[in-house]
Amino acid sequence: MASLRDLLPVQELDTRALQLRHRRDNLDLRADLVEHNQQQSAQQQVISELEAQLHQIRRAQKEAEDHASLIDDRAQAIAKAMYDGSVTDPKELGSLQTELAQLRANQDTFETQALELMEQADPVEEDVADARSRADEITASIQAIGEQIIVAEAEIDAELDALAAERATVVAEIDSDLVALYDSMGSMPGGIVVAEMTGRRCGGCHLEIPSAQAEQIRSASNPRDSACPECGCLLVS
Ligand SMILES: [Zn+2]
Repeated sequence: MASLRDLLPVQELDTRALQLRHRRDNLDLRADLVEHNQQQSAQQQVISELEAQLHQIRRAQKEAEDHASLIDDRAQAIAKAMYDGSVTDPKELGSLQTELAQLRANQDTFETQALELMEQADPVEEDVADARSRADEITASIQAIGEQIIVAEAEIDAELDALAAERATVVAEIDSDLVALYDSMGSMPGGIVVAEMTGRRCGGCHLEIPSAQAEQIRSASNPRDSACPECGCLLVS
């Protein structure tokens, strides 16, 4: 005769499947992946900031070099005028001499500035390289974690497939009305549709059932009348 008890093995398999699906959805690896993705975003931010800093130094260096070069052109033109014999007036020569000295001094200032900026850029350039290689490491970790997730999911999926096959075999031996009743109650709290009543304690919600109701459950001839008054799961007594 069909008995609710027949459904207990189905419940056991379904509970195991539920736990597996929960484990699949909550793999530690997934949290790990989220953390690494956050690290990667932060690292990209660090890289952009360093690159902006480097760009600024390089631009200032270029400006100083351009200034020095323009001044050098002008100084060379003056030197040429002074020494090619085209200017002979001693007073004019004297003023060219003064201007040349002033230009060379200015040129020196800009060249020194360009050198200092180049020295400033060096450590920042190293920082950019370090930050990029750290980002590459994080990318490699993300890839590795992604692969581990695929493997872990495949393992769980294989277990779920095995459970589904086992369930099909078990269900084939059970009264089809009972199975239909069970399946119609698929969305019970914690996935518990059928549980044993031990004494007066419900095996689903673990609460104590009042004596009169517990007695009704024991004497129920229709499985639908054996539901726990608290959680609604069908009780095997
Ligand atoms: Zn209950």
